[in-house]
Amino acid sequence: MLDKVVIANRGEIALRVLRACRELGIKTVAVYSTADHSQKHVLLADETVCIGPPASVGSYLNMPAIISAAEVTDSMAVHPGYGFLSENADFAERVENSGFIFIGPRPDAIRLMGDKVSAIRTMKEAGVPCVPGSDGILGEDAQENLKIARGIGYPIIIKAAGGGGGRGMRVVHTEASLMNAIGLTQAEASAAFGIDTVYMEKFLERPRHIEFQVLADNFGNVIHLGERDCSMQRRHQKVIEEAPAPGITEKQRREMGERCVAACRDIGYRSAGTFEFLYQDGRFYFIEMNTRIQVEHPVTEMITGVDIVREQLSIASGNKLAYAQKDIQFRGHAIECRINAEDPKDFMPSPGPIRLWHPPGGPGIRVDSHVYSGYSVPPYYDSLIGKLIAYGETRRTAIARMNNALNEIVVEGIKTNIPLHREICHHAAFQTGGTDIHYLEKRLGL
Ligand code: ADP
Repeated sequence: MLDKVVIANRGEIALRVLRACRELGIKTVAVYSTADHSQKHVLLADETVCIGPPASVGSYLNMPAIISAAEVTDSMAVHPGYGFLSENADFAERVENSGFIFIGPRPDAIRLMGDKVSAIRTMKEAGVPCVPGSDGILGEDAQENLKIARGIGYPIIIKAAGGGGGRGMRVVHTEASLMNAIGLTQAEASAAFGIDTVYMEKFLERPRHIEFQVLADNFGNVIHLGERDCSMQRRHQKVIEEAPAPGITEKQRREMGERCVAACRDIGYRSAGTFEFLYQDGRFYFIEMNTRIQVEHPVTEMITGVDIVREQLSIASGNKLAYAQKDIQFRGHAIECRINAEDPKDFMPSPGPIRLWHPPGGPGIRVDSHVYSGYSVPPYYDSLIGKLIAYGETRRTAIARMNNALNEIVVEGIKTNIPLHREICHHAAFQTGGTDIHYLEKRLGL
């Protein structure tokens, strides 16, 4: 097993990684910004290193500072969590070139999947179904681009090849607005991701977002852990996730899972990963692969009993996968609500001191959160303050337990989106299950 791990992240995921390390007897090093000295995982870690100022460019995105922290603490490996440097192939490479283990895929796999155009090309070759699209990045030739769009058929969506976090996308309904939209998305992509390449896809009008979790070791063993439904979104950002996806049959799960596993073998993938699909009219269309642990991984853990973070650590230690595909049984249903420090009506961030934090409990309830009474949510980062996960033998029970939990939880001092979650859980459409990705925004009147 690894001896000591640097946790190059903050918030709930840093705490999640710390807990998994503790369980395995691995020592932990928390690296933190000056705004984060009172984070729970910083208080709990075996060693701590302050790596820079609040702004993440100087701290959580500061590669030399993180690698130096690994050096001075004589650590063996770096866990990047999600966000920040987790999908940065250059970072993974620098970690490995400095003699440490990167707890994630090989840098070349991150690079291949980080560019959405090369990811789509690779998936097509591996027999994974993709959204009809431009088959590569768009060139300068306006006539050619108009022709491609006509071939796909409107509406289409222009997407940044290097995009992420729901940004760098624009829907185009008519030919008249196509050229302008391409120019705008290129400019946005260049500013946000440092690379202006864009591509085109058919815009699916009422898809669901369904993704498959995979795990792979260094010995060519690959398994899938089934799917999650993450269709409850606002601004392309997930709000509620669940597993399994309502209405997906065992046969569909097996077929798509096997295709994802085969694709992992093709690219020599290792560690945890997620294949994201849009699902419409009974068909799956690949949109991208996430080469890291995801926010919503707990719902899969609840229905499979597999600790995905522990497996990441074990794989990075050079162990074989602890499970074969036949060992994976899906049991019950799990739902996750992302609790954000934000106004439930206008979604403005609501940082500041939490006067009272009273988490819920009871059978099937899991709370992944780094906050506590007296903790102050800094204004510099993502607004996620925790995740409420409810498990039940059936989806109905999971929803009932989630309702209980949402009624029990108390957060005072800041605004949160808990009222929004309470509302959604009572919607008839949510209770039925299978709503599409536009459902929430429509309901919110956006
Ligand atoms: P990101 O990397 O920013 O998360 P994705 O490619 O995963 O971007 O897309 C995020 C979300 O955008 C999807 O979950 C879906 O809601 C929407 N989206 C992306 N591509 C399409 C498409 N072709 N048609 C309809 N919606 C799409």
